[in-house]
Amino acid sequence: MRSQAMFFQRRAGAALADPQLQKKFAGLKGKFVDSRARAVAAYESDFDELRDAGRDIRDRVVANLDVWLELFEEKATQRGASVLWAKDGREICAHVLAIAQRHGVNKAIKSKSMLSEEAQLNAALSAAGVQPVETDLGEYILQIAGNEPPSHIIAPAAHKDLAEVADLFAATHHTPRKTEIPALTREAREVLREHFLSAGMGISGGNFLIAETGSVALVTNEGNGRMVTTLPKVHVVVTGIEKIVPTLEDFATLMRLLPRSATGQEISNYVSLCTGTKGPADADGPEHTYFVLVDNGRAGLLGSDFQEMLRCIRCGACMNHCPVYQSVGGHAYGWVYPGPMGAVLTSLYTGLENALDLPQASTLCNQCGVVCPVRIPLAELQRKLREQQSERGLRPWSERAALAAWAWVARRPALYALAAKLGVRYLNWLAGGEDRIRVLGLAPGWSTGRDFPAPQGRTFRELYQSRQESKA
Ligand code: SF4
Repeated sequence: MRSQAMFFQRRAGAALADPQLQKKFAGLKGKFVDSRARAVAAYESDFDELRDAGRDIRDRVVANLDVWLELFEEKATQRGASVLWAKDGREICAHVLAIAQRHGVNKAIKSKSMLSEEAQLNAALSAAGVQPVETDLGEYILQIAGNEPPSHIIAPAAHKDLAEVADLFAATHHTPRKTEIPALTREAREVLREHFLSAGMGISGGNFLIAETGSVALVTNEGNGRMVTTLPKVHVVVTGIEKIVPTLEDFATLMRLLPRSATGQEISNYVSLCTGTKGPADADGPEHTYFVLVDNGRAGLLGSDFQEMLRCIRCGACMNHCPVYQSVGGHAYGWVYPGPMGAVLTSLYTGLENALDLPQASTLCNQCGVVCPVRIPLAELQRKLREQQSERGLRPWSERAALAAWAWVARRPALYALAAKLGVRYLNWLAGGEDRIRVLGLAPGWSTGRDFPAPQGRTFRELYQSRQESKA
């Protein structure tokens, strides 16, 4: 997926101005939020302790990533798999195409993989004469809709409604239009079944790689992951180097966090652990297994201010709870990863200068950090990105000048108090006796799509001082 992150403002504006899209977002609001809250409340033990344990596991991995990767390679190789390394999208495509060519593959079935989006793998496969077929229902919908990019990491077609899918299926499958969800899923199943049986290669991502066994863990709700990894004679796993967990026990801990944080489920419908190749006693499984372990910017985060981002287990909770994501949707962010985690990752992986508005796409309310199952301080990381943007002179001069002026005043308490007093009086005057300011005089663009609460009349300092005086 080619990055469009430079155009966040324009794309966000278009999403806000699209009433159809806004209606769909309103329908989604709360869906995952409520189910996560229920799952957390029903968790039999302390969920915060579980989050600490998840954070510690991920930190242990990231602190010694090379050691765990070497162990994984050794164990996976012992079980008959081949481990390949890719530093960027170009190398991912080269590896996968070489494997396809080696095994004479002309069709590849795929289960959801964000990294194949990072690498634009589908386009590379098609160009080389290998038909890629997405089998995750959301991804399949996007593929037949003209290869649309996903708008959510766990619900890629969240921006489409039932009527659109019904139209799409009727037009693509040349079948009578159906509007019942079970009928539509049955139709997708029937179409995909043919592909499952005729593909020479299965390509999957990986939720986790288990170092002690050399396995890949796949967590899905549709069961397509199982078909992709067991039916074709070749299975290729394309996943990031940070997806390692040391042991099966660590994996079990993270599995208590992932579905609850993502969809509010205690456990996903399908959890598969794929190890090695098909053995003599196995009824099914691939004859050839390849792991393509990808850097694509990840190793550069080690030892940096942003190392904590490597803990991410791609649950999507941060975007589900983000007021900005809820309003503008995933496409506005312009690359594979939307929401707060995307604002950080896209800036880091594609370059801060290519994602100028993403670190600003937040109120820093930290809802994302509060729900992140592995305690990534997303708001803090966005603030650090803003600092770097400012230091590198990447923000508009007017913004930098305004911030410099603010900083100059903030370092002079008497002046700051006076400025705050005048500011509050000015905002009260703008509110005209109402509790909301409809149009901010100095920043009309800011109040185009939202209201600004009017201040309470006096500054915090004034209120504090009068309270102290009344106590005396
Ligand atoms: S940053 Fe945290 S909340 Fe967001 S996807 Fe990653 S693990 Fe989930």
